[in-house]
Amino acid sequence: MSRAIILTVDDDAAVSKAITRDLRARYGERYRIVRSMSGADALATLEEFQRRDQPVALIVSDHRMPEMTGIDFLERSITLASGAKLVLLTAYADTDVAIKAINDIGLDHYLMKPWAPPEERLFPIVDDLLSDWERSNDNRFDGIRIVGNRWSERSYDTRMFLARNHVHYQWLELERDPEAQRLHALFGAPERALPLVLLSDGTVLDGPAPHELADALGLHTRAESTLYDLVVVGAGPAGLAAAVYGASEGLHTAVIERDAPGGQAAQSARIENYLGFPNGLSGSDLSQRAMMQAQRLGAEMVFARSVDSLVQRGNVHAVCFADGTEIEARAVVIATGVSYRRMGGEGLAELTGRGVYYGASASDARGTEGDDVYIVGAANSAGQAALHLARFARRVVILARGASLTTSMSTYLVDRIVAADNIEVRLQTEVVRGGGTDHLEWLELVDVSTGQHEEVKASFLYVFIGASPHTDWLGDTIARDERGFILTGPDVVNLDRDRWRWPHRRPPFLLETSRPGVFAAGDVRLASMKRVASAVGEGSSAVSNVHLYLETV
Ligand SMILES: Cc1cc2nc3c(=O)[nH]c(=O)nc-3n(C[C@H](O)[C@H](O)[C@H](O)COP(=O)(O)OP(=O)(O)OC[C@H]3O[C@@H](n4cnc5c(N)ncnc54)[C@H](O)[C@@H]3O)c2cc1C
Repeated sequence: MSRAIILTVDDDAAVSKAITRDLRARYGERYRIVRSMSGADALATLEEFQRRDQPVALIVSDHRMPEMTGIDFLERSITLASGAKLVLLTAYADTDVAIKAINDIGLDHYLMKPWAPPEERLFPIVDDLLSDWERSNDNRFDGIRIVGNRWSERSYDTRMFLARNHVHYQWLELERDPEAQRLHALFGAPERALPLVLLSDGTVLDGPAPHELADALGLHTRAESTLYDLVVVGAGPAGLAAAVYGASEGLHTAVIERDAPGGQAAQSARIENYLGFPNGLSGSDLSQRAMMQAQRLGAEMVFARSVDSLVQRGNVHAVCFADGTEIEARAVVIATGVSYRRMGGEGLAELTGRGVYYGASASDARGTEGDDVYIVGAANSAGQAALHLARFARRVVILARGASLTTSMSTYLVDRIVAADNIEVRLQTEVVRGGGTDHLEWLELVDVSTGQHEEVKASFLYVFIGASPHTDWLGDTIARDERGFILTGPDVVNLDRDRWRWPHRRPPFLLETSRPGVFAAGDVRLASMKRVASAVGEGSSAVSNVHLYLETV
């Protein structure tokens, strides 16, 4: 496979040489570093790369250039080098323009000139951008190939499981790819279920369940001990924060995750409101960093295992798995989050995973290239998904029940949606039906203000319509509200109809549930804020509550 490209663009010969030299010194072995002296020349170069299907990982452009500003050039480069990370070289005087470009064109970073010493002011930024690009770039895979049908739910789930666990793979579609057909003929006996997953050591798995795939890939799927100080259920932002704080404060900590780290946040193409990341960061990047941090501090991560009940034995809590095994803990933090509510329209349930998707992860977007995509929802998650998918899809249509987006979506997202050429917003519109032979092919929409029905062709429907908590597995063991959200702190004594549940004279700690020693953090908790930062805050606060609790037993 040819090396991906890093392109530098600067009309000033001295600066151009310097930035190219620094980048070549550090990245020259892994990337091809190409230099352009003007925006026009660089656009022609990118066209050529696009024609030859050569991936571009990073473009670093000066802002002040005579014929075309750096921002104009970078904006035009997006269609030629989709997915490339964009960096603007600026003088101090242009900082405001650069900050604006983060919103306007999706600039990934701006670098102040001069950037010496590069070890401090250039390489850490570029390292981050390139590792993010590498993680989300399908061209680079760890020898794992998935052969399956384009519209199979099982294939989709397998790809999502690998993507969320940051395992690179090559996706080969049986309908369109001769290599997929060759591999299927070679390994796909009729009785073998699709998708086929071919590992680099020659192992072939057919239609593997997540835990089989995780075992085959050597992911950690079993707890090493039988008793922990703290078990965290769920590895979204709240659970990962609890793991970081628990482990760093000396608690023997394990985190159980049924799928992959990051939770809902991992589906976010760009989180823009997390403190300390002025350019935003992808949810997958945030999750990967948090997981590495938790592991480095000593937390044990157990993947592809779903907790399905909680049993109390004196002061110890048994966290039980579906296969009958269990681990015990002196304290438990439940951070199982929420997932999107299902769409009610006729025919849509049957098409889940075959054109109808709940939430959208960054890795889905490429599959929509050249197609029309419909998105249901009017909150920030829908807006972010629309902007991200619009980079690949031919057209994105947002369907919102309300009369305006501004009441439910942040202004910065609404502004960018309005400015995007290929995003259309249809207000007061609902999906009533959907259908297709083996995948979604059409939707029936209704304009609720006029009652008029319309059928549209559609291959993709992404749904973002409110959330329900992952708490069914708790049954009656812990007080929840009528929608399933967990009561904590004062709510345990004020709102639980079965107040007798709280057994102590002391009031529950702020994040403690109706069962002493069991805490809840993040979206799963009643009246939580449903944001990454608040989930992280609650996950870390839960650990301080755990310490207070352990002093009482
Ligand atoms: C597409 C999208 C974009 C978003 N963008 C933003 C944004 O820009 N800014 C922002 O602040 N917020 C954003 N949010 C909201 C934010 O992601 C959530 O508020 C946050 O992730 C909540 O974290 P959490 O840890 O409480 O739960 P979750 O992120 O839901 O994580 C819960 C985890 O628990 C696991 N789990 C569930 N049940 C079990 C079980 N029984 N056993 C084991 N594991 C289990 C799940 O697999 C999951 O990994 C976005 C959400 C979405 C979906």
